[in-house]
Amino acid sequence: MRNKLGHLFILTVLFVLMYSTAYAGAKQYSVDGQLISYNYPQINIYINGVKKTPTIEPLLLNSRVFVHIRYVAEQFGAKVTGYDKSKVSINYNGKNIVLYYNKNTAYIDDKPVQLDATVKLINGGYTYVPIRFLAEAFDKNVRWDNWSVYITDREQQVVRVKDIRYNDGKLLVQTDGTITFDKFNLPSPDRLVLDLENAVLDSPNNININSNGIKQIRYSQFSLNPNKVRVVVEFDKLVPYEIATTDDKKVLSVVFNKLKEDNPPSGQPANPSQQDPGSSDTSKQNPNPMNPPQQDQQPSSNQYLVNALKYTVTGDTANVAIATNASDYKVDKLDNPTRVYVDLYGAKLGNFASTIDVKDDVVDTIKASQYSQDTVRVVVYLNKNASYQVLKQDGFIVLSLTPIDNSKKIIVIDAGHGGSDPGATGNNLREADVVLQIAKKLQSLLAQAGYNVVMTRTDDSYVGLYDRPALANQLKADVFVSIHANSFSNPSAKGTEILYFNNKKLAQVVHDELMKQVDTVDRGLVERPKLVVLNSTNMPSILVETAFISNPDDAKKLASDDYQLKFAQGIYNGIVKFLNQ
Ligand SMILES: [Zn+2]
Repeated sequence: MRNKLGHLFILTVLFVLMYSTAYAGAKQYSVDGQLISYNYPQINIYINGVKKTPTIEPLLLNSRVFVHIRYVAEQFGAKVTGYDKSKVSINYNGKNIVLYYNKNTAYIDDKPVQLDATVKLINGGYTYVPIRFLAEAFDKNVRWDNWSVYITDREQQVVRVKDIRYNDGKLLVQTDGTITFDKFNLPSPDRLVLDLENAVLDSPNNININSNGIKQIRYSQFSLNPNKVRVVVEFDKLVPYEIATTDDKKVLSVVFNKLKEDNPPSGQPANPSQQDPGSSDTSKQNPNPMNPPQQDQQPSSNQYLVNALKYTVTGDTANVAIATNASDYKVDKLDNPTRVYVDLYGAKLGNFASTIDVKDDVVDTIKASQYSQDTVRVVVYLNKNASYQVLKQDGFIVLSLTPIDNSKKIIVIDAGHGGSDPGATGNNLREADVVLQIAKKLQSLLAQAGYNVVMTRTDDSYVGLYDRPALANQLKADVFVSIHANSFSNPSAKGTEILYFNNKKLAQVVHDELMKQVDTVDRGLVERPKLVVLNSTNMPSILVETAFISNPDDAKKLASDDYQLKFAQGIYNGIVKFLNQ
């Protein structure tokens, strides 16, 4: 492949030389103290089939195509992290690439790579890099043809979405390839989101359903490069569903559980007298004569009984345990009066004392009611502002309420990954474990200093990606810090990195304080606008990549109790300094 291309390049250069002799002096540039005249066409760059016209022209130099470094970096979301007289450094997805002017060895994560063309300074000020080397360092395929450079993602075949349709409780997505997808739920309104990775779509569409709890299904090309098609199912009322793909992975189906036909329309509870008396939503208080109270009905086969309420206090935290096997629920907080409610879908209120008068520091009253024909609502009226968390346990749904002292700054610590998601693994470590250990050390430092600290997880349990920023937003936290450990295929990659998006100042202060405590390689700050924990948080937020789990030296540090405390101390010092500025 390379030899063939080489011949092509040489032929091209001969052609260029003849051509430029005839039309010498049309364009010029200087390199290595020489003035070069050329007159060949503008070189085009195609990235995944999309034509790009660089504003600073690519050049042919020693039969290699060179491009301005900032331009390629920008195209691939890489970052030029350092310049000096001798070298230039680029960071791409955590990969550190260093190129030297006029030196044939480059370094990818400290590993030497031989080059057949070196970085050049053009016209005394523009740093040009050989595009083939850089694109390959970015894990891309490169092809040269007819004055164009074609750069494509490796081993990625774009899947075309042929048809999306909904019929009788079933959503079908048909494609011509292998579907890979990501799914998650979003609240207010309840939505199921399916992201089809590496997929393209001809035209977006909205399908209005307005039946079986589903309001609308819409789909569109969410992004190009990377290609992503997003399908959103918006619910009037969350319906249980099952997602499956065919054996050949060409068709994805979502089957929604059927709701009973005599179900009341959304927004109109079957039994208005039983609804949450504190509800401030007046639209829900219209009596609906078409749906008289049906309290005495036996639960139908698809309904779960709610059998009891139990109230306990552990330390600061108040726990409301709801005895039920229902697994589909929604939790939210309302003001005036301050209360948290849990809606249990597909549930029927059993025969028990449905009101508990607690009257303690945190909780005033707990009330359970049949909110609509198949929704049970449990409302907890609070005496004090509190954060909430819901956990599903054997036969119970437990709502935990932790009081918030509004006079103290609130810091949310997010230990990355957990549960079914171990994060990076290597050197006998799991990222989920080490980051939790560091997070707990940070928690105790901050708590001792009198801050209000809330953890997104305190054990090895799974927390959704969107639930993490949602918790911090709900608390109106002052700082959000997510703790992770890095990993790379090449074990020589190592060091500490602070990722940020909405607040570089926080990142800088934490970086400076952290690097005083640890002696890991300083990889600096990296702006990451696409990270959910950074772009969905309303307060200053950072993600600390403590060290590389894939590097033996870094892994030793991550595993050490003493060293974990150094990470925690450094992050702590940074947060305190930031809050006191
Ligand atoms: Zn991670």
